[in-house]
Amino acid sequence: NVRCLTERVLVIGLGLIGGSLASALRTRGICRTVIGYDRDKDELETGLRLGIVDEAAADLLAAAAQADVIVLAVPVKAIETVLAEILPVLRTETILTDVGSVKGNVVRSAIRLFGCVPNRFIPGHPIAGSEKSGVAAADATLFEHHKVIITPLPQSDSDAVTLIARMWQAVGAQVLQMDVERHDEVLAATSHLPHLLAFSLVDTLAQEQDCNDIFRYAAGGFRDFTRVAASDPTMWHDIGLANKQAILQKIDEFTAGVGRLRKAIETEDSVAMLGIFTRAKAAREHFS
Ligand code: NAD
Repeated sequence: NVRCLTERVLVIGLGLIGGSLASALRTRGICRTVIGYDRDKDELETGLRLGIVDEAAADLLAAAAQADVIVLAVPVKAIETVLAEILPVLRTETILTDVGSVKGNVVRSAIRLFGCVPNRFIPGHPIAGSEKSGVAAADATLFEHHKVIITPLPQSDSDAVTLIARMWQAVGAQVLQMDVERHDEVLAATSHLPHLLAFSLVDTLAQEQDCNDIFRYAAGGFRDFTRVAASDPTMWHDIGLANKQAILQKIDEFTAGVGRLRKAIETEDSVAMLGIFTRAKAAREHFS
């Protein structure tokens, strides 16, 4: 198979993202064997039963020692734990990557454990997903026509960068490169802030006494805006802390923006109100 890029890919964390990648690699024949590992044996069993992986690893260290490529698809906070676990058995030629939503913390974890970011550790982040989690929600087409950001470091091995980029392209994604800080800033603005606002809005409204009544009358706009508030709370807890500085900065900018809108409404400043809405409408139409 011309598209077969490597032999053994081990996906650690067989949930929504890990399961979707494993399934896409397997169905498209991108590697010889896809091995899954998850600390939740039920998830692993389900992954094997659904044909998402070729093999379920019973022993993480044995599987990691034999893998050509290892994808860390565990929650952001667990990445350092898993890296520490597999560190003793990692071969120098093994290529490592991850799918975590924040990159600065992953790089800091690698530095804590290895002393520096290994040449063959190429951090990555697929900009695809959903509010669902778990392997049962895995979808081999999840990454098609979506972007994946990889954040290689100056010392990164160019063959490893190429292989990880090709792996994502082979599952249908468009690969972009960015530096780690820029990634965390951009994602704080485009993903982390909107998720946190949706959680906060729904939580605020849910405190109101007649909230059931309010939600009953919610229309499409409310549903669109708040869909992501059904995402996994633990995942967003981890992201909130892992990208704390960039997120706080975006929350402050947003708070200032809401403050300007509040003032415009309070003072019935139509020019200011229409200015905000017109600029936002133009910007939204430009990127949609
Ligand atoms: P998920 O909950 O569906 O899957 C995570 C899996 O990791 C679970 O099966 C869990 O049992 C397993 N796990 C947790 N700790 C582990 C450990 N120490 N060792 C082995 N397995 C462990 O979550 P997900 O949505 O697939 O997210 C996985 C990663 O992908 C996260 O880092 C997240 O930031 C990132 N991500 C998620 C999305 C999204 O929309 N869900 C999008 C892009 C990136």
